[in-house]
Amino acid sequence: MTGMEKISSKIQTFSEYICQASNIVVFTGAGISTESGISDYRSKGGIWERFVPVTIQEFLASEEKRKIYWQRKLELFETFGDAKPNQGHYMIVRLEKMGKLKGIITQNIDGLHQLAGSCGDKILEIHGSNRETICLSCGDLRPWEDVYKRLKSGEEVPLCLKCKGFLKPNTISFGQALDQDVLRESMEWASQCDLMLAIGSTLVVEPAASLPRIAKQNGAKLVIITLSETPLDAIADLKISAGIGETLSAALNRRD
Ligand SMILES: [Zn+2]
Repeated sequence: MTGMEKISSKIQTFSEYICQASNIVVFTGAGISTESGISDYRSKGGIWERFVPVTIQEFLASEEKRKIYWQRKLELFETFGDAKPNQGHYMIVRLEKMGKLKGIITQNIDGLHQLAGSCGDKILEIHGSNRETICLSCGDLRPWEDVYKRLKSGEEVPLCLKCKGFLKPNTISFGQALDQDVLRESMEWASQCDLMLAIGSTLVVEPAASLPRIAKQNGAKLVIITLSETPLDAIADLKISAGIGETLSAALNRRD
């Protein structure tokens, strides 16, 4: 078979899996957002290579670190703030409309699944979200735009308007534990699905490394769509190394 024929036979199998499934869990990583122009900040030349991250402990302890932290967040937002969902995100919305989606578990903090129209109740953001801020003292949640305006107008370290506590984007920072409730629910979803699509993640860090295994152990089929190799390729029913949007779209638009 040629490369193209191989891909097209994989798309056919993938399409059949979707057809047979009624309880799909989609797990997404940075790869789906790179198709929206958001660079994978863990990759080479990414922000994590350029900067030493500010840990939550440093953030709490030092006004200087808080200034640096917010300066970087502002830069990030100015770079990626207008990113739009892409075909990959929209195809996942379509799975939801078909009544086949149990939910989306995402490592991404960009909120693009919500922007695409996926229902918030069906999304577990294991690393939190950059689209809102949380007060570390009173838990007050605000849309990110509120703090963005304050940063733009010159505030260096915006504080909670209710209690003067420290604000932070509602993401999991370095040195901060993952939300146990979100983790527990992710594992539950993984164990209950009949098809897991692991998309755009290298499946190396936890819980990304475990969720597809949990799905497989409980009888689900596993499809991995990502350009790179992953440690779980060997247990996948199907591994497709191609663009995410085009692959999902081809599988969902397939007509026999
Ligand atoms: Zn507060």
